Amino acid sequence: MKIGTTIYLDHQATTPVDPRVFEKMKPCFCSEFGNPHSSEHVLGWRAEKKIQEARESIAHLIGADADEIIFTSGATEANNLGLLGLCKKRDSNKRRVLVSAIEHKSVFEVAKIIHENYGLELEIIPVTENGLVDVEFIDRKIDNDVLFVAVMVVNNEVGVIQPINKIAEITSREGVPLYCDASQAPCSLNIDVFNDKIDLLSLSGHKMYGPQGVGALYIRRDLQGQIAPLFYGGSQQSGIRPGTVPVPLCVGIGAAAELLKGSSAEEDRIRLSQLRNKFGEALQASKWDISLNGPSFYERHPGNLNVCFKGFVAQDILAVLQPRLAASTGSACTSGIPGASYVLRSIGLTEDEANASVRFSLGRFTTEEDIEEAIILIFEALSSLD
Ligand code: PMP
Repeated sequence: MKIGTTIYLDHQATTPVDPRVFEKMKPCFCSEFGNPHSSEHVLGWRAEKKIQEARESIAHLIGADADEIIFTSGATEANNLGLLGLCKKRDSNKRRVLVSAIEHKSVFEVAKIIHENYGLELEIIPVTENGLVDVEFIDRKIDNDVLFVAVMVVNNEVGVIQPINKIAEITSREGVPLYCDASQAPCSLNIDVFNDKIDLLSLSGHKMYGPQGVGALYIRRDLQGQIAPLFYGGSQQSGIRPGTVPVPLCVGIGAAAELLKGSSAEEDRIRLSQLRNKFGEALQASKWDISLNGPSFYERHPGNLNVCFKGFVAQDILAVLQPRLAASTGSACTSGIPGASYVLRSIGLTEDEANASVRFSLGRFTTEEDIEEAIILIFEALSSLD
């Protein structure tokens, strides 16, 4: 996929809206624009029907029921609502939270606030050099004074897929809520298999070929009374998340969810992983010292390739590649913040290695030609910096 002359390999930062999704969103701007909470006229009813359908599509994607889905402005808000919401309504015997070392900032920073402002102990679940969380650690540390365990399904930097089923066995045995940031999951695997195992789960529209500015929080039905809202207003979405829900955006994330179900989504994942493997193998076979960060190709997001260009500075490589190739050093949410990626440091990379690492992320519209051209451009960039 090229935008003008730029090959786009930064899908884990944001995906383009799929044209099929955009088609479904279009009428919601100028004709089907009713407020879904207007209960006294036909335009309101029609908008409400669209919201309900979108909720059902998301519920279907994750194996939940529509009334367990709350729309938010994105995964950041969903993570804040789920985690802080639980904290604000907690029982006084809850004193600790367990959070994996490689969570996205929108989980990690909330966990820090829970520690600093609410006094709960924050225990970091360590990860191996592949980025897999230490399940034994969770098993050892979990007790009934734990408010929640937070482990993301798929990491946004190294793409590692966590053993959620194993973790869920432990959390459900102990009756402790399992919180999963699944923003990067729908493009990686079938997530309906988690239906009755995860208690809270977040999604982001713009990581799954839907629009930016919308996300969803799944809250298991019996936990809904235990979530305090982040802000107050009308009674929309049971008061858990007041405010008018944006019809075009919700229709968009719903349509995006539908495209991620079924055999064509699975075929797309296989195609993507084959393309990514070819890309990674070509880089590793070059004369430069290029190594894969994180798990093997089989344990990660099919479009993720995070590699260390030993002896180089990643930002120099990315700068030389402008405007021909768009990739990134890691999470867009930490872009511009000085210091090496804490995710790469947690999996054992030195600061220099972390600073020499680039995340390429391929997507639904990436072609073989894009990858062939990208490889040439990267080799040219390395030669010019050598
Ligand atoms: N979690 C993960 C794993 C992410 O990759 C992102 C986006 N970088 C977020 C949460 C935040 O999502 P949003 O942009 O929808 O707030």
